[in-house]
Amino acid sequence: MSPESVDDLVKGSPRPPKDRLIRPLMLMLALLLSSCDPASGTHQRIEGETMGTSWSAQWHDAELDPAWLAAAMEARLEELNRSLSNWREDSEISRFNHGRAHEPMQVSEDLQAVLDAAQGTYEDSEGAFNIALAPLMRAWGFQGSGLPRRPEAAEVRSLLPRTDLSQLKWDSRARQLTKAIDELELDLSALAKGYAVDALSELLLEAGASNHLVEIGGELRARGHRPDGSAWRVAIAQPASLSLSAQPTVPLHNLAIATSGDYQQFFEQDGQRYAHILDPRNGRPARSSTASATVVAASAMQADALATWLMVLDTEDALALAQQRSLAVYLIERLDDGYRIRQSQAMRLLRDTHRGSGITKPGR
Ligand code: ADP
Ligand code: MG
Repeated sequence: MSPESVDDLVKGSPRPPKDRLIRPLMLMLALLLSSCDPASGTHQRIEGETMGTSWSAQWHDAELDPAWLAAAMEARLEELNRSLSNWREDSEISRFNHGRAHEPMQVSEDLQAVLDAAQGTYEDSEGAFNIALAPLMRAWGFQGSGLPRRPEAAEVRSLLPRTDLSQLKWDSRARQLTKAIDELELDLSALAKGYAVDALSELLLEAGASNHLVEIGGELRARGHRPDGSAWRVAIAQPASLSLSAQPTVPLHNLAIATSGDYQQFFEQDGQRYAHILDPRNGRPARSSTASATVVAASAMQADALATWLMVLDTEDALALAQQRSLAVYLIERLDDGYRIRQSQAMRLLRDTHRGSGITKPGR
């Protein structure tokens, strides 16, 4: 019974490393506490690289060839990148970004699913979650070739109209995407990774691995249970400088988890900290004191989008929203002299459910 190292499932960084961006090692970590149940004997694990980070999957009680499954996963990821990647010039989303106004583009089912979620979260968040921020991300040096820097206020103001998502006409039924201004560009980074996790989980399920844990860059989805019948258990990401005596964990039974943090990509200028999640209302990095937001939801895409949205809000507002909607949310709040953990009721309940025996016995 050797507990797998918590570092094991998190290798690499969410983006190719950039100068002057400090990226502490700790991201989302998954714990496999009992990988050696003699009864199952078929626990398998595969891994690879994608989206500037790593992916991994583990499963049991299915007689699947790991090499075959890894190839199938790679093929699916390649398909997703061809559609959703902002880092590939020839992807569907990049072609849309380079395209002209008033020329409808027919999109794939994958892009349709991501756009539906993005549009829904945009409306739900009253614009706090916005996939049209690329010009501002470049201005702040978080994307593109420039170094992170604070742009002039006038530059930020001049870019805001280009990030107006109401200039996007999305007809989901017809799967048609049209922009009303040439300059509109979509950046799916805040939820594409989550969608890819869901897609890989679907693939595993279809292949017969009904008990699995799959992860890309620290965003995870769990189905079924561990070899010993207990829920999959996942460690919550935290800044390296937050040294908790015990690693906080969440049991996941047919649920997904995502974390968005301001300590993975940021720069400091004149004593002020600027992180890569922007407040679309003013075009500046979000100013909340939340260092990270972890969300448990039914799908990884939902968790991914929610985690980013919550990072834009004040810590109190994020917590109030979580309470109001019964979302399972774990926030790490930055204080002058350290950090404070803020959990929603639903998160507390979820974490308490499997405490004690730590064992659940869902029917096989
Ligand atoms: P990561 O992709 O770094 O794991 P997130 O899921 O939080 O973390 O996504 C952050 C990315 O989302 C940023 O790099 C940027 O491309 C984009 N983004 C920044 N601010 C917002 C926002 N307010 N709404 C939607 N997307 C955003
Ligand atoms: Mg996100």
